[in-house]
Amino acid sequence: PVYAAAENRYECGMQYRRAGRSGVMLPAISLGLWHNFGGVDTLSLSRKKLHYAFDHGITHFDLANNYGPSYGSAEETFGQIMKSSLAPYRGELFISTKAGHDMWPGPYGNWGSRKHLMASLDQSLKRMNLEYVDVFYSHRYDPETPLEETLQTLVDIVHQGKALYVGLSKYPLEAYLFASRYLKERDVPCLLYQGCYNMLVREPESQGILKAVKENGAGFVAFSPLAQGLLSNRYLNGIPEDSRIARGGFLKKEALTPEVLRKIQALNERARMRGQSLAEMALAWLLRDASVTSVLVGASSVEQLGDSLKALDNLSFEEEELRSIEEILA
Ligand code: NDP
Repeated sequence: PVYAAAENRYECGMQYRRAGRSGVMLPAISLGLWHNFGGVDTLSLSRKKLHYAFDHGITHFDLANNYGPSYGSAEETFGQIMKSSLAPYRGELFISTKAGHDMWPGPYGNWGSRKHLMASLDQSLKRMNLEYVDVFYSHRYDPETPLEETLQTLVDIVHQGKALYVGLSKYPLEAYLFASRYLKERDVPCLLYQGCYNMLVREPESQGILKAVKENGAGFVAFSPLAQGLLSNRYLNGIPEDSRIARGGFLKKEALTPEVLRKIQALNERARMRGQSLAEMALAWLLRDASVTSVLVGASSVEQLGDSLKALDNLSFEEEELRSIEEILA
């Protein structure tokens, strides 16, 4: 059956936020395809989630060369769905990809060289059935490659028309500030900074990234806003068999320390008092700050995505609630 997007997709509660001082608006909640969209996952469920997302106003999908497993397979999945149903909506979609982490063997398969970035983006575009991405990120700071080489490659990629904007992910503050200046001077300003930010991971605040990104006119995109699922109902009563921890990957069972468990149980209670699920509250807590342009959620089911979207129904917190959340997290 041919897909037709829901006609009311822009009237079902999604908020759009301007990315820094740019022309681009992003949905407050975007969908990331790091996990759950690879070759190990079923195409029909991936398709359902993407359609559900777009039908609910999610216009931004975040990918990277190596999302899967296997490497490249999330982009392939996305490319198949692009071809079969989303292509007519290309102008309504804001699609990102990245390069910099391990992708293929040998000296050009990772990090920040011109060689790696150019080759990787060409491969990503093919896999995704796209002529251009909306934003191309340097996925991580490379301490061995002159930063100018990486940054000039980003500038050239935009000039070649393969990306409309560029972004930086996980750059330490000093490197970000240098990069931001370099890119601005070449009229290809950094549109988005992507960093890990959630109730349990506060570095963007403590290391001054959030502030610097705002001052420099970029948007901030928070990845792993649910701490990979820890900030949800998933692990309140043990480790479910179908969960990310049980499936084995980046989230290890060691992350679920008695202290973390105590915190998420207490947070869950706070969330209940607000009439939200823990996942909803965790997302609302990030989005209460207008300088967070978008939170990039993952989802292993359509129901999770639906639950996460409900966060938008209540993004405001009383001072007292914020204080008690800080006490729990302390
Ligand atoms: P989250 O913190 O949103 O974790 C997603 C996981 O949380 C899901 O797979 C699911 O776990 C669980 N979950 C999600 N929603 C709910 C819900 N409503 N109720 C209960 N459980 C829920 O994000 P990710 O860690 O997946 O990262 C999101 C995106 O960020 C990635 O897809 C990627 O695009 C980006 N990213 C970028 C990085 C970078 O280096 N720039 C690094 C990491 C991520 P389960 O599978 O167990 O059901």
